[in-house]
This record gives sequence, structure tokens and C-alpha cells, in this order.
Amino acid sequence: ATNWFRALAVLTVAGVLFGGFQWRVRSMRARNRELEETVIRRTVELQAAKENAEIANRAKSTFLATMSHELRTPLNSILGYAQIVQRDPQTNAQQNRGLKIIESSGWHLLSLIDDVLDLSKVEAGAVELYPTEFHFPAFLHGIGEIVRVRAESRGIDFRIQLSDDLSQYVHADERRLRQVLLNLLGNAVKFTDQGSVRFQVSRVKYQMPDDGEPDTGTPDTITLHFEVTDTGIGISPAELERIFNPFQQAGPPDRQADGTGLGLAISHNLVSLMGGELQVESQPGTESRFWFELALPIADAEAGIEAEKSPGRQILPLDGSQPKILVVDDRWENRAVFRDLLNPLGFEIHEAENGQEGLDQAREIQPAAIIVDLVMPVMDGFEFIRQIKQLPAFQDTPIIATSASVYEEDQKRSLSAGGDAFLPKPVDADLLIEQLGGLLGLSWGTVTGDEMEVGLDDSQVLVPPPREILETLLDLTTIGDIEELREKLIELRREDEALKPFVHQLQELAQGYKQESIIQLLKMYLEKQT
Ligand code: ADP
Repeated sequence: ATNWFRALAVLTVAGVLFGGFQWRVRSMRARNRELEETVIRRTVELQAAKENAEIANRAKSTFLATMSHELRTPLNSILGYAQIVQRDPQTNAQQNRGLKIIESSGWHLLSLIDDVLDLSKVEAGAVELYPTEFHFPAFLHGIGEIVRVRAESRGIDFRIQLSDDLSQYVHADERRLRQVLLNLLGNAVKFTDQGSVRFQVSRVKYQMPDDGEPDTGTPDTITLHFEVTDTGIGISPAELERIFNPFQQAGPPDRQADGTGLGLAISHNLVSLMGGELQVESQPGTESRFWFELALPIADAEAGIEAEKSPGRQILPLDGSQPKILVVDDRWENRAVFRDLLNPLGFEIHEAENGQEGLDQAREIQPAAIIVDLVMPVMDGFEFIRQIKQLPAFQDTPIIATSASVYEEDQKRSLSAGGDAFLPKPVDADLLIEQLGGLLGLSWGTVTGDEMEVGLDDSQVLVPPPREILETLLDLTTIGDIEELREKLIELRREDEALKPFVHQLQELAQGYKQESIIQLLKMYLEKQT
């Protein structure tokens, strides 16, 4: 019986233990379930918070884009009229001084608007890089030319030093890199009264201890050192600490007028986005030095030639003859710019000084296209376009009207007189090349070695993109984010060659900030698709 009792006791204890165990497993399961539920609940909450933040962020970007467009429009008339009235001989010296102040404040406001939009985009992480392949030395020289003009006008020596082991084509966001370099170089010139500004770009060589061979990056990237040095007013140590903060302007107040204090903040952000770090060093009163390093992928030459804005390209028709371009402009400097831009691309340039001379020349040489300035003595550009379009021989000759006028009115008038495109001055070389290529139906040659192979563009038929893309473009235009629209267009064109004529058409309108026309055009395409 004792044994029987013992067994019963053991069983009871085991039962209790097992029950406790079961209870514990059950409570652990419950706890687990609770935890799981909490996790799910939190995830949902987080997701909602994230979505709300994104909505708020989008609202902020939209607001800034709309604001910047809304402010830009009236500014255009303020700036325009400030300039026009200054030219009126009836204004006296005092009034003129006032107008000059209105004008320079207007330009300041405009750069502030642009910079605020840019900085808010960079800070919100809304700036994406759009790398393309481009000819690197030509890109750097292009920047050098812009800076040289500014430096010379201030009597400062400008030197550009490029080491000769830079690669020909690199893969980077050309526009953003140019923005950073122009900001640094622009500041260097602005804050230097005498002496020089130096722009250096070299390949970084790291010493590899094992094989003693200097390494210059992985086989398909190149590490580059960019440096801008000036012998200017310098920056004090206290100012140096804050120099990359937004709205920091250092130095004497009279220098601050033509800046916004945002340039360096934007540049610093952009360089980080590209994977580098903008750094600075300065001796007050003696010199300043800004530098950064970037590892950029090397692009193969073939791809480089195809790229958006490679200057190595040539434009020629199939038969290899040089298309004749007639440039009608009363200022020799302007004609020289066109000649120097277009001659190397394979065009034959003829010149005339006014509309009347232009008509005579056109009859004589039968140009393939005409570039005409709008404001000229004897016969102006509008009259020239009107008259030449009435001559049967020239009805199909493409005409590009060009002017430094800030007025959309002038652009519209030139187009309604019969012009095929409008080119604002100062001339954007890429736009001009794009316009000529489009109007003449030429495509960029692909260069293999020294050979040039060029074909007629077979995609001149306008193919619009699919509906959802049209809608995205329409949204961007409606909120006035022309910058984003332009980037989207470049992207579209890169993705699909067949969209080139469509993209080209919109790019031209975007260039002139013709929001209304773009909207109408996009709506028309959308209607066609329904
Ligand atoms: P800003 O539009 O005022 O030039 P930046 O952000 O580009 O704005 O520069 C901020 C400030 O940094 C300038 O106002 C100037 O005081 C100082 N700074 C920038 N570059 C230089 C330079 N090369 N030499 C002296 N001061 C400079």
C-alpha cells in the first residue's frame, strides 16, 4: 500500500508540475501573441506616421515650388521694367540710381528664391543626382571660360590647372557638379580684389604599400581632387566654423549685397550627396582654399559620345557637306560667338549686320538655317522674319530668333512672325545645338576614332510617352516645378530614344518657363490618348 501511495504521490506531483508547465507554455504563448500584436500595431502606426510625414514633405515641396514660380513671375516684370526705364533718356541721374538699386535688388531676390528652393530640396533629400556621361576636360574648360570672363572684368588673374591624367569621360551629375564649382569659383572671384584665383583638378594617387604601385581608384572609377584657391580677403576662424550653415555671410557688409549666404550650404550638401566632403582653409587677409575629393565612375568613350551634352560631337548631314548658317546680328561680338560655337561643329557660317543685309545674303547663299537677332538697326528681326517667310524659297528654312530680351512678349512675337524657335541670350550653347539639330533633322554623329558617322534622325515623328508619364509631367508643370520637369525630360529621353522629338519640344518651352503652353500641350496629348 505504501508503494501504491508513493506512486500516487509521484503521479500527483508530476501532474501538478506538468500542469504548471502547461500553464507556463500557455502564458508564454499568450505573451508572444501580445508581443506580436504590439509589433503589428506599432508597425501600422509607424507606417501611418511615415506616410503623414511624406505627405507633409510633399506639401512643403509643392508649396515652395509654387511660391517660387509665383514670385518669379512678378519679378520678371519688375526686373524688365527697371531695365527698360533706365534706358529711357528722359530719366535723370537720381532716378537712374534708384532704378539701378531696384534692378540689383530684384536680381538678388531672384537668386534668393532659387537658392531657397534648391536648399529646401537638398535638405529634404529631394534632390536626386542625375549622372550622365560627359567629356570631362571640356566640362572643366567650359567652367573656366565662364569664370575667366568674370575674373578679367575685375582685373584678377585666373588660372586653370588640369593634370593631364584626367579621364576623358566621366559619369556624374554634370549640372550639380557645375553648380558647386561655379559657386566656389564665383565666391573666389567675388572676394578677391587683387592677385589671382586658381582652379585645380587633379587625379588623387594613393600610395599602395604592398606593390609600391600608386593606386588611383578602382579600375573603373577615378578619384579626383578639386581645389579653388584665391588671394582674397580670407575668412576669420570664427566665420570658418559657420561657413557651411545656411544664411551665413561673413566679411564686410558691402560684399554681402550680391550674395544670399546659401551657396556654400547648398554646395556642401551637394558634395556630400556625391560622396565627398567640401572643406575649407583660410588665412584672413591673405588667401582662402576650398577643396573636395570625389570618386567618379569612368565612362567609356562610346557612351560619352552618346551622352546628353558632350561637346566632342559633330553635326553633319549624310552627304558630308557643311550646312550653311546665316547669322543676322548687328553686334560683331554676338556674331563671333555664333561663329566660334558653330564652326567647329561642321557648319559654314555667313554673317549679316541687319535685316536688309540678311535678306540679300539669304538669297545669295541659300542657307540651311538662319539665326536672327530681334533688335537691329535698318531692319529688325521681326520684320526680317516676316519678309523672308513670304519668299517661297525660304518658307521651309528654319529660323531661330534670338534676343537678350527678358520679355516673353518678344519671344511670342518672334514666333508668331514665323520664327521656329527662340534662343535667349546669353546663348546657351547646348540649347542652340539642340535647336539646330532638331530643326534641321540632324542627329549627333557617333565618333569611332577619327571617323564620323552621321545619320538623319529617323525619329522625327512625334511619339508622346504613355499616359501616366504625361500626367506626371502635367503635375510638375502645374505646380511650377520647371526644374524637376527638366530633369524628368532628360531622364525620359535617356530611357527612350523615340521620345526625343517630344522631349525636345517640351524642353524648349521649359527653357522659356512657358508654363501655360506646356500645360496646354500636355493636355492635348492626354486628350488624344483617350
Ligand atoms: P554668398 O551668396 O553670400 O556668397 P555663400 O554661401 O556662397 O553665400 O558664401 C557665404 C559667405 O562665405 C560669403 O558671404 C563670404 O563671406 C564667405 N566666403 C565664401 N567664399 C569666400 C572666399 N573665397 N573668400 C572669402 N570669403 C568667402
